[in-house]
Amino acid sequence: MENKLNFYNTLTKKVERFVPNEDGKVSMYTCGPTVYHYAHIGNLRSYIMEDLLEKILRYIGYDVKRVMNITDVGHLSSDADTGEDKMLKGAKREHKSVMEIAKYYTDAFFSDCGKLNIKTPDVVEPATNCIDEFIHMIQVLLEKGFAYGAGGNIYFDTSRLKEYYVFSNLSEKELLVGVREDVDEDANKRNKSDFVLWFTKSKFDDQELKWESPWGLGYPGWHIECSCISMKHLGEYMDIHCGGVDNIFPHHTNEVAQSESYLGHKWCNYWFHVHHLNDKSGKMSKSKGEFLTVSLLESRGYDPLVYRFFCLQSHYRKPLEFSYEVLDNMGAAYEKLVKRIGTLERGGEVDQAGFEEYRGKFEAALCDDLNSAMAITVLYDMLKADLSDATKFALAEDFDRVLSLNLTVPRAGKEGDSKVDAELEAFVLAKIEERKAAKKEKDFAKADAIRAELLEKGIALEDTREGVKWKKV
Ligand code: AMP
Ligand code: ZN
Repeated sequence: MENKLNFYNTLTKKVERFVPNEDGKVSMYTCGPTVYHYAHIGNLRSYIMEDLLEKILRYIGYDVKRVMNITDVGHLSSDADTGEDKMLKGAKREHKSVMEIAKYYTDAFFSDCGKLNIKTPDVVEPATNCIDEFIHMIQVLLEKGFAYGAGGNIYFDTSRLKEYYVFSNLSEKELLVGVREDVDEDANKRNKSDFVLWFTKSKFDDQELKWESPWGLGYPGWHIECSCISMKHLGEYMDIHCGGVDNIFPHHTNEVAQSESYLGHKWCNYWFHVHHLNDKSGKMSKSKGEFLTVSLLESRGYDPLVYRFFCLQSHYRKPLEFSYEVLDNMGAAYEKLVKRIGTLERGGEVDQAGFEEYRGKFEAALCDDLNSAMAITVLYDMLKADLSDATKFALAEDFDRVLSLNLTVPRAGKEGDSKVDAELEAFVLAKIEERKAAKKEKDFAKADAIRAELLEKGIALEDTREGVKWKKV
């Protein structure tokens, strides 16, 4: 099939035409969440943009297999090999076991993804499921001389590589700025950039989850999981590896080092990285105490899809600053857009030439390094164009395969023109009248019962000076 998607490859530092290893097929791996807390909306920006990439690939005809890990062991509180295990910290905080914490926050993660219309990857694998695979890879690395034991731990020897910093021309010193604040030198390391593959001795000996290994009872380092889990499901050659920009170093750098040393050949051709969501004080992070979650946005009355719309209006390679003011504007624009689509007459004949013209423009925007903001502009242009309602509706439905904004899902709205809206509105207004009459007769129990009945149907009433208002909740 024709390869027409272009995107920025962090490995070559260029926008490149994507060509998969096997014609028409794409193998794709995403670094999954560390499940010691809720995902913040910054993490979810990365997953929204990776979801966009996957959906574009499918939209233009590729058969995609996407794999994601769940980090439920080994991610220490510093991305370097120092500090406490993040999972253990979470378990202590909540007085639960590590596995309970992992289950709770994994479920919470996928529930957030569901609200944001992020498709669940074809394979989701927790790190704790793959201990045998980690041990095998570490054994091979030891046999090949790429790893060594010291002080009870097994380390990867970065001095054995021709090139360790594959993603950057920067020196180690420059790369480490901003990554570690509390650099804690490990005297066992032969080289400063070496990293742990397997721990049996760490400063934090109360690690809850430990497994038998040829090197003693212990647990894996963080980086090994992504190499093993991706190879387990996608084989020795991979097309695209994704993550947020903070993963480039050290996580992805270490993944490449160990994977290619193990395999003896190049592993992954394209590296896709999403820039950060920041708040006014800088990068959003889970360790900062209070952080923004999907539930927090919901509790403030935002539809999570407004956040998706906000992300799609920005480019994945630019940092994005979050503010409620911008989110409010996005919410108003989103509501207007959906209402406009709701007024389109359904049924009737689709004008094929018009359909193809706008589909082509939409696809061209997406294939131009995932220009989702431009793709949304094509959607607006299409709605204004001289096309039949049936054609516009068919296009909106088609574009939503990628945008996933529920553009054509009928919903309640006081001014909505769709049939569903009209029926709902008539029903709610009749109930409001009934409640008014009950109140007039001082039958407050009945009035309350009507309010409760509506609430059960997802309609909330509000008594205001201008009269009774209602909204869908
Ligand atoms: P974690 O759960 O911390 O392992 O992170 C999950 C994903 O979110 C990774 O791909 C990170 O690179 C990404 N990430 C972390 N912080 C941000 C942020 N502020 N904005 C966008 N992505 C982020
Ligand atoms: Zn990873």
